[in-house]
Amino acid sequence: MTATLAPDAVLDDCAALADLDDTALAARFLATQQVHAHRAPEQLRHWAGVAAEAGRAQARTAGADPRAQARRSGLTVVDAADGLRPGWVVVAEYHERQREVRLHHDALDLAERLVDRLGWRAWYPAGALRDAAVTHELGHRLLHGPAARELRARLGLVTFRLGRVQRYGHVGGAHEVFAHGYAQQACGLGRSPLLITHALALVAGARTAKDDG
Ligand SMILES: [Zn+2]
Repeated sequence: MTATLAPDAVLDDCAALADLDDTALAARFLATQQVHAHRAPEQLRHWAGVAAEAGRAQARTAGADPRAQARRSGLTVVDAADGLRPGWVVVAEYHERQREVRLHHDALDLAERLVDRLGWRAWYPAGALRDAAVTHELGHRLLHGPAARELRARLGLVTFRLGRVQRYGHVGGAHEVFAHGYAQQACGLGRSPLLITHALALVAGARTAKDDG
């Protein structure tokens, strides 16, 4: 069955992603944001590290069971199978109005097969991707609260300064990196979910596999 997963050249590209550390992968993700076209690579790497660590720090104070977390948050996890469309792949989506996380099992199954094919099971144990996908969305949801301001202050992109008053701006893509850091820590993954997300996007022929703007 693995022969149909993806051409060997694509799988080689996926395997090569693992040579980059998690911060480098996150910096590469930030670099895909149009708003960062003029930024120095060191700046993006710094922001990538700060955003991921902020997510991990939040997760250390939260419970590890994503289903319990979702219940406490009043969220429902809904099973779906609409995550693979031409040029597009998404494992989970958060819908604020319905207060639900939609989990796409077609994309999730593809990710699980990819983990086996690439020999990444030690980093992503059986069942962990599903939990990570739900937890990732819970991480995004945290950023609807005070955590967003904390993250902006940590990132330190000053957009306004007058005397002792300064305001911090939004760093495009930082919420996504935060959510991956949150999920990695909460689910005890050996590598950031950003790695399998990048690989999944390559196999699905999508530019990225992110789930929000
Ligand atoms: Zn996301």
